[in-house]
Amino acid sequence: MEQIYTIPVNEAFDLVSEKPECGCPFCVLYKKLQSDELDIILGASMMEPDIRIKTNEQGFCLSHYNMMLGKKRMLGMGLMLESHLNEVKKRLAGPTVLGNKRQAAIASLGELEQTCYVCSRIDKNLSAMIATAVYLWESQYDFRKKFSSAPYFCLPHYRAMVDYASKKLPKKVFAEFYDAAYTVEENYINTLSSDVSWFCKKFDYLYNDEPWYNSKDSVPRAVKFLSGDPKDDV
Ligand SMILES: [Zn+2]
Ligand SMILES: [Zn+2]
Repeated sequence: MEQIYTIPVNEAFDLVSEKPECGCPFCVLYKKLQSDELDIILGASMMEPDIRIKTNEQGFCLSHYNMMLGKKRMLGMGLMLESHLNEVKKRLAGPTVLGNKRQAAIASLGELEQTCYVCSRIDKNLSAMIATAVYLWESQYDFRKKFSSAPYFCLPHYRAMVDYASKKLPKKVFAEFYDAAYTVEENYINTLSSDVSWFCKKFDYLYNDEPWYNSKDSVPRAVKFLSGDPKDDV
């Protein structure tokens, strides 16, 4: 199962170690998965009954609706929304069986807000990719080098990765893995916080003649580090 993810995971780690400005390797993978998924959903698979059942049921989050609108395949979207709206009608009306119809409708609409077909597909694949990275680190020394030269992992992906590793790796191996991941993270947050401090200082007239060093883009970089890359820059 993990074999199919080996190539994209290796490629993402290669990319960020050559171009640190590309940031978190899992954000790189996220964006690729997202762009593939949006192409697929508005392409041939849109009319496939089993996928349609899921999109009718789950709908999409706002950022994925907006990205789909941007692709300008309006008929495809229209057809998908036609059947999704029928599903939403049922949720609005509440169940036909006896019971607290209104409360059931409210709960069911609340559930709908939490689901997005594209997000759920990406999450599933990205979790497998995170698992693959941990597996590669455990089994291939070459990969460890690449791993340690990643510029950083955004916090949500760092957390997901070390959490997965803590459950899967033998205790001693996990301790080594954690150290390797933490070292990457610690180095980056130290540099990043000095960049942000310098950025703030530069607004003081006393520092007018000082250079910016690497601080000019430190605020958007801090946001990327804290929350991952913005979803909508596909
Ligand atoms: Zn990330
Ligand atoms: Zn989504």
